[in-house]
Amino acid sequence: MSTTVMQPVRRPTIRQTECFIDGQWTSSQSGKTFETIHPATEETIAQVAEGDQADVELAVRAARKALESGPWSRMDARDRGRLMMKLADLIEHEADELAALETLDNGKPIRDARNADVPLTIDCLRYYAGFADKIHGQTIPIRGNYFCYTRREPVGVVGQIIPWNFPMLMVAWKWGPALAAGCTVVMKPAEQTPLTCLRLARLAQKAGIPDGVINVVPGFGPTAGAAIVKHPGVDKVAFTGEYLTAQTIMKDAAPTLKRLTFELGGKSPNIITADADLDAAAAGAHFGLYFNQGQCCCAGSRVFVEESVHARFIEKLASMNKTRRVGDPFNPETEQGPQVDRAQFDKIMKYIELGKQAGATCVTGGTRVGERGYFVAPTLFDNVSDEMPIAQDEIFGPVMSVLKFKDLDELVARANNTIFGLAAAVWTRDVSKAHYLAKRLRAGTVWINCYDVFDAAAPFGGFKMSGMGRELGEEGLRPYLENKTVTVALG
Ligand code: ADP
Repeated sequence: MSTTVMQPVRRPTIRQTECFIDGQWTSSQSGKTFETIHPATEETIAQVAEGDQADVELAVRAARKALESGPWSRMDARDRGRLMMKLADLIEHEADELAALETLDNGKPIRDARNADVPLTIDCLRYYAGFADKIHGQTIPIRGNYFCYTRREPVGVVGQIIPWNFPMLMVAWKWGPALAAGCTVVMKPAEQTPLTCLRLARLAQKAGIPDGVINVVPGFGPTAGAAIVKHPGVDKVAFTGEYLTAQTIMKDAAPTLKRLTFELGGKSPNIITADADLDAAAAGAHFGLYFNQGQCCCAGSRVFVEESVHARFIEKLASMNKTRRVGDPFNPETEQGPQVDRAQFDKIMKYIELGKQAGATCVTGGTRVGERGYFVAPTLFDNVSDEMPIAQDEIFGPVMSVLKFKDLDELVARANNTIFGLAAAVWTRDVSKAHYLAKRLRAGTVWINCYDVFDAAAPFGGFKMSGMGRELGEEGLRPYLENKTVTVALG
C-alpha cells in the first residue's frame, strides 16, 4: 500500500448530520437527535438525526420506488457503473477531508484513515463499478424444443447495517456490489460513527446517482436497525457486526424470509513456526493485532508461537509495543489512537483484568494511557492458555495473547477450537507446511507470511459463527442478485 507524506491535519467541517431519504436531507420524523463524539477528547462533535421506524418507512418507500419505477430501473448497466466511477472520483478529490472526518468521528490515526480507509474505499467502488455491465446469465440446453436462459436480476431493496471500526470502507463494501447489481439501498451507519457515511451519501448525490437509490437513516440498532430488518419491503439484509446481533437479526428476518449475509467477529489464530523469518513474523503479528486499535474483526488476537523460538519472539513483540506511538490521532506520526467509545474501553479494561486474574503474564501495557480519551496501552499477554477468557472471547482492542505450541497437528486442533472462523495466518519458510496449514485451518481467509492483506477482488468472510456468505470479489456480488430462469417454446 502506498503511503502519502502527511501535512499537519486540520479538523474537518461537519456538513451532513440529517437523514438522507429520497434525495432529501431531513430531520428525523420524531425530531430526536443523538450525539457523536471525538473519542480522543470525549467532546461532542455533532448532533445527528436519530432515525427510527418512521424514517425507515419513508426510506424503504423511496428505495422501492427507485427500484421499480425510477430512472435507476431503466438505466443501462454501463451507466450505473459510470456513476459509481464518478462517486469514486469525488471521494478521491476529497480524500484528505474524508480521512480527517473519519479520524474525528472514529479516533483512528489520520495516517491510517488517509493511507488505508480512503484508498480502499475508492478501490472497492471502482472494482464493483467495473462489474455493473458484466453481470450475465446463461443459455441452457434443456430437453425439447425450447429456448432456455437465465437472467441475473437485482435482489431488490437491500438493508445494510454497518459497524464503527471502518465506517467509510464498510459503506463501499456494501454499496459497491449493491449498486453494481442494480439494487437500491437503505443503510444504517453505526451510531458511534455516522458522519463519513452521510458525507458519502452527499457525494453519491453529487455524482448523479438518482434520488431514492441510496438512503441513509442514522440511528440505533434496536430501533432503526431492527425496523430495516423487519420491514417487508426490504428483500435482503447485509450486516457487519457482532454475532449476537446477527442472531437477533436472523430471528427478526425470519417472518419475511429475507436473504441475509453476515460478516461477524473472530478470534483469529496467527501461527509463528520456528522456521519463519522471525523479524517479519513479529512485525506481522504486531500489525495484525494492533492495527486500528485492535478493532478489526480479523485481528490476529491468538498468536501461537512454536516453543523453541517463543522467548525470542516475545522480546521482539515487547520492544515494538514499547515504541508504539499512542496519542492524538490527528498527529501524522501517531500509530495508535483511542478506542471508539467508553463502552469499548470498559470492555477491554475488563478483559485485561480477567487476563491478569487468570494468571497470564502481562508483558507490556495493561493500563489506560492518559486521563482523557479512550486510550489503552498496547497490551501483550504471555503464558496464555486456551481456556482463558482472553484466549476465547473477542476483545476488539489492543490486547494480544501469546500461546505456545510444539506439535503441528495439536496446534491445528487448538487453533480451530473456537466458535469463530474468520481469518488465520501462518508464518513459515516451509512451503509444504504453509499449504498444509492453509488447508487444515477452518477460516475464510488464510494469510501466509502476511496479515490483513485486503483487496476488493479477493472474497472475505467467515466460517462458523464468523459469518454467512462472502463480501468482495465476484463472490460478493452474488447475494445481491436473483437468478431467473426463462423458458420459451420454439414453434
Ligand atoms: P458493535 O458491538 O461493534 O457495535 P453491533 O453488532 O452491536 O456491534 O453493531 C453493529 C451495527 O448493528 C450497528 O450499526 C448497530 O447499530 C446495529 N445493530 C445493533 N443491534 C441491532 C439490532 N437489534 N437490529 C439491527 N441492527 C442492530
